[in-house]
Amino acid sequence: RRPARPHRDLVHPRGMVPYSHKHNPTIRVMQWNILAQALGEGKDGFIRCPLEALSWPERKYLILEEILTYLPDILCLQEVDHYYDTFQPILASLGYHGSFLAKPWSPCLDVEQNNGPDGCALFYRRSRFSLLSTSNLRLSAMMVPTNQVAIIQTFMCQVTGRWLCVAVTHLKARSGWERLRSAQGADLLQNLRGITSQSRCRSKEPLGTIPLVVCGDFNAEPSEDVYRRFNSSPLGLNSVYKLLSSDGQMEPAYTTWKIRPSGESCSTLDYIWYTHDALSVESLLDIPTEEQIGPNRLPSYHYPSDHLSLLCDISFKEEPHRLM
Ligand code: NDP
Ligand code: CA
Repeated sequence: RRPARPHRDLVHPRGMVPYSHKHNPTIRVMQWNILAQALGEGKDGFIRCPLEALSWPERKYLILEEILTYLPDILCLQEVDHYYDTFQPILASLGYHGSFLAKPWSPCLDVEQNNGPDGCALFYRRSRFSLLSTSNLRLSAMMVPTNQVAIIQTFMCQVTGRWLCVAVTHLKARSGWERLRSAQGADLLQNLRGITSQSRCRSKEPLGTIPLVVCGDFNAEPSEDVYRRFNSSPLGLNSVYKLLSSDGQMEPAYTTWKIRPSGESCSTLDYIWYTHDALSVESLLDIPTEEQIGPNRLPSYHYPSDHLSLLCDISFKEEPHRLM
């Protein structure tokens, strides 16, 4: 009944110089807002998606299939409301360690027969990384706590001994909240500065070389303030998916595409940020075409979420000069 999942190519950025080798293998990172089950069935109003395609038994295999197809070393998810009963146990049996941080007032709790609050989840492959520290953040906006969260973890790569800091977040949705998103982004950046400079002291790496990866559904187009904040922060971040464009300067046309009673919405809201001086993007998964997505847009029997997964292979640019 269900046609085959459309294939997505792994492509190399233009002019990419490979840094990966046997002793410096690439790290695969996946970013995905998987669509909370309670929101998809109870709140979103995806009028062009058959109800059956929105059922959990149908969606959960598509979500797991996508994750298992690519087997990322780092997996960052938003809108997770089946952590304890699904993702944690299944991914743990496959060698992952997971962390989950619920939103303080998840909108899922308003839906009848919900499965608990949604939140962000961060998984890593235990054979590749060891966990050094975790920060669970409730994001603030101008000192006021908000309903959005972030997980920040610092790892040591088992192969290279290098440290890597990873963050996952899901900023406030909807238009009219651009200033709140910007303030939440500022709070996250400030926390990241604190954590990466602290780690830098302890890791004895040269100045500025604790590489950082930030994955999120920022709920913001590239024209928004919060995007500009990340793009021009002193942390030296670049957005992975810009590298899909011919000049490396433009984000893809969409990372989410859906039809609600209020109309069609096609926008770029999801990002993987990385420290461009310390990390190299060796490949990334292309974005499905409009034809592959189909006239009813997302989600569908092919795509379990209204957001597309983002995936890239990154590597450390050079060995640090270790200070013994
Ligand atoms: P957000 O505005 O961030 O949105 C929450 C979710 O709704 C997101 O996952 C978002 O998905 C999705 N969404 C975005 N646009 C639409 C749309 N047009 N229709 C349906 N869903 C959409 O919400 P908050 O986290 O700020 O929480 C707000 C909700 O939380 C309130 O509606 C209330 O139910 C609850 N709440 C309860 C409180 C209490 O005291 N009990 C206090 C505060 C909040 P995406 O990111 O994919 O766009
Ligand atoms: Ca959503």
